[in-house]
Amino acid sequence: MGYWIFVVLVLVAVVLALLVPRLRLKAAIAAPFPPEWVAIVERNIGVYRNLPMPLRLQLRNLIKQFLHEKHFTGAGGLEITDEIRVTIAAEACMLLLNRKTHVYPALRYIIVYPSAFVVDRAQGSEEGIVSEGRKGLLGESWSNGKVILAWDNVLQGSSNFADGQNVVLHEFAHQLDSESGGTNGAPILVGQNCLRTWAATLSGEFEELQKDAWKGKRSLMDHYGATNPAEFFAVSTETFFEKPAQMAEHHAELFEVLKCYYRVDPRDWQSTAQT
Ligand SMILES: [Zn+2]
Repeated sequence: MGYWIFVVLVLVAVVLALLVPRLRLKAAIAAPFPPEWVAIVERNIGVYRNLPMPLRLQLRNLIKQFLHEKHFTGAGGLEITDEIRVTIAAEACMLLLNRKTHVYPALRYIIVYPSAFVVDRAQGSEEGIVSEGRKGLLGESWSNGKVILAWDNVLQGSSNFADGQNVVLHEFAHQLDSESGGTNGAPILVGQNCLRTWAATLSGEFEELQKDAWKGKRSLMDHYGATNPAEFFAVSTETFFEKPAQMAEHHAELFEVLKCYYRVDPRDWQSTAQT
């Protein structure tokens, strides 16, 4: 008898352990999106007002899930506010619209500095980390569940959604990339037909950008994308979302495979009159 009571208690504990987090998440997503958060995304995400309502509603739910699951920490004296959390969550979740996917399942922590930061790191300890910045770092994506960002650069990138520079889109593209087990410019691809050409298109465009960078020739995409395939994917993502019309015109195949992967056409948002 005692044995069966023990078995039942273990089963109840297992069921509760599985059920409670799901119920909490469901409740977090079902909760109303606070009007203060709407004001933040309208103020800080340059393209938000141009999104059709179904995408805005999707984005709000993704933001709620993101904020429920991820932990934010301020560094360098920065105090984390709702403005910081909601702005970063909104931009990160732009990459997930219309896609059947989890919300960055491996990501746990977002660390935010007030501005460019310096990391004192021992040589040889950089596996799985991709960093951006010259004098100081503007962003870093770790494959073990961490993203680090400079808030002033985040805000600058989110306000101007048309200059092709966006550190949040960049770092979270690295997060998507690392979900496949390596940060190498090949994220997990759902088996749509149009993605068969992914490798050929991205490697061809990467080589072209490398040539442009060597020659010092101007290009639509930042030459930083010529660093390696991982940076190429991250820079392409920034360009796809922020300069979609130019990419579609000058890099049509690349635009099509990214459109297929991200399942949105950002030209629709850029062409709508700004309000
Ligand atoms: Zn990068």
